[in-house]
Amino acid sequence: MTAPQRDKLPAGEAGTTPLVSRQPGQATTVVSAGSVQFGAEKVVVIGGPCAVENTDQITSIARQVATAGGSMLRGGAWKPRTSPYAFQGLGRDGLALLAQARQASGLPFVTEVLDPRDVMAVAEVADMLQIGSRSVQNFPLLREVGASGKPVLLKRGMMPTIDEWLNAAEYIMAAGGSDVVFCERGIRTFETALRNTLDLGAIAVLRERTHLPVIVDPSHAAGSRRYVTTLARAAVAAGADGLLVETHNDPGNALSDADQSLTPEEFAELTTSCRAIARAIGRDL
Ligand code: PEP
Ligand code: MN
Repeated sequence: MTAPQRDKLPAGEAGTTPLVSRQPGQATTVVSAGSVQFGAEKVVVIGGPCAVENTDQITSIARQVATAGGSMLRGGAWKPRTSPYAFQGLGRDGLALLAQARQASGLPFVTEVLDPRDVMAVAEVADMLQIGSRSVQNFPLLREVGASGKPVLLKRGMMPTIDEWLNAAEYIMAAGGSDVVFCERGIRTFETALRNTLDLGAIAVLRERTHLPVIVDPSHAAGSRRYVTTLARAAVAAGADGLLVETHNDPGNALSDADQSLTPEEFAELTTSCRAIARAIGRDL
């Protein structure tokens, strides 16, 4: 038996995240997921329900997202819920419904994978794999998605520091993944007026520290639909490469995150108002 090795960290300017860190003069990496490009001129808007509930729900929301100018669909097939008795998602059946909705709307989709054992099944159909806040330091899962060859949307954890978040992306890239997009979604602070505290400063810090694109999820930060558009506008002004927004055809009856889900009309207003800001800073949406 060989003796345990001391930590061997890569040396050099990139510190301990050599694959994720931005080298001097390095441009932002454009990450493609289906027809969508993160980190290019256009601000990407991902829209969809918190959870996939049934065929009609996900297909009609997908069409509404496309009509409102969204470029990607979201929807959870597996939901990480605080209570084990709350709706946990449709699992593999939900994946099939997302594929149908992609067909109906022409939008590629991103969906969360919670369990390393499901990664291959999700990677076979999804255009992008989401790692949720609660999984950001699930190292076996990060390695598995890194090896899947699919682009990864990496949410910020509620508690990890930006350094720990960068290291989570490094796990994915060290396992062979090349396409990671960071998603700031609010962190836990002393403040309880909103569900989480959106850390817009993280956009500026990540811009400096990594060559990978950064998007913002105003929905899980706000926790209430009243605040979502304000946070989305601020994120675009701060230079986010995209937005991930929860929207539902019948928010009052959504099976999860009902309070923060925008109506289709509110979602359309959000894209219109964020487009004006994107254009004002030399981008588009
Ligand atoms: C989600 O996107 O539905 C979700 C569960 O988000 P988070 O992991 O950021 O809580
Ligand atoms: Mn949600």
